[in-house]
Amino acid sequence: MGEPDTRNRALLAWYHREARTLPWRGRTDPWEILVSEVMLQQTQASRVAERYEAFLAAFPTPGALAAAPLPDALAHWQGLGYPRRVVRLRDAAAHVASHGWPRTPDALRRLPGVGPYTAAAVACFAFGVPVAAVDTNLRRVLSRWEGRHLGPGEAERLAASLIDRRRPADWNQALMDLGALLCRPTRPDCPRCPVASWCTDPSAYRPPRRQPPYVGSHREARGRVLAALLEAAATEEELTRSTALPRDRVRRAVASLLDDGLVRRDGPRLSVADG
Ligand code: SF4
Repeated sequence: MGEPDTRNRALLAWYHREARTLPWRGRTDPWEILVSEVMLQQTQASRVAERYEAFLAAFPTPGALAAAPLPDALAHWQGLGYPRRVVRLRDAAAHVASHGWPRTPDALRRLPGVGPYTAAAVACFAFGVPVAAVDTNLRRVLSRWEGRHLGPGEAERLAASLIDRRRPADWNQALMDLGALLCRPTRPDCPRCPVASWCTDPSAYRPPRRQPPYVGSHREARGRVLAALLEAAATEEELTRSTALPRDRVRRAVASLLDDGLVRRDGPRLSVADG
């Protein structure tokens, strides 16, 4: 038996003992998986875990989200950030409600808001396709295994050659958990790692640039303006008062929300778009 098989056995045995308990784990419904993966694209797992069940309770099927007014969808996305994601998720839901689920990674990628990672995750977890779902966490782990920083294409090719084809979903999730629990971006916990004997160089990873702080950011201003408009339509002046943000930040936030089609203007009054 080759080295990857031995490493996979050690990895999967560790996963069997140490897997994280997350509300989307073990699910095979493609809608439930797509919702979790879109939420996880830019939001921490702990925050997603707080919102996931409520979102699915409100929109239990693609048809339910596709039929929902945009303000309802945005209201249930509150706290997750990057609200354009729910607009695209709603577009994807409309496509699925009309045409059914695509089942391969290539076909899934044609859905709005679905990139290579999300497509692979849905194909693997829902439809059992033995494809690796390579995000930055997996790239970090694989780079350390290989002993050099891997680009996205290289990491995908390597992952495709290593994946356990009998248990592809467990393999993907085992690597995700290894990346989250032990093989962290800084200070990996190598002494407790089940695959340390096969790892070439724990320093072989260049962390991405840190995100700027949320407080004081354009993202924060957008979130606060959108939250205020979900309460009630308002003018820029009223928004400046209700958000307690400087007028120029409100103006820039409004301009970008208008650009994104999340907000509409009716004379001086602004409201959440209902398209
Ligand atoms: S030995 Fe350390 S660097 Fe290598 S995979 Fe395990 S935790 Fe990551």
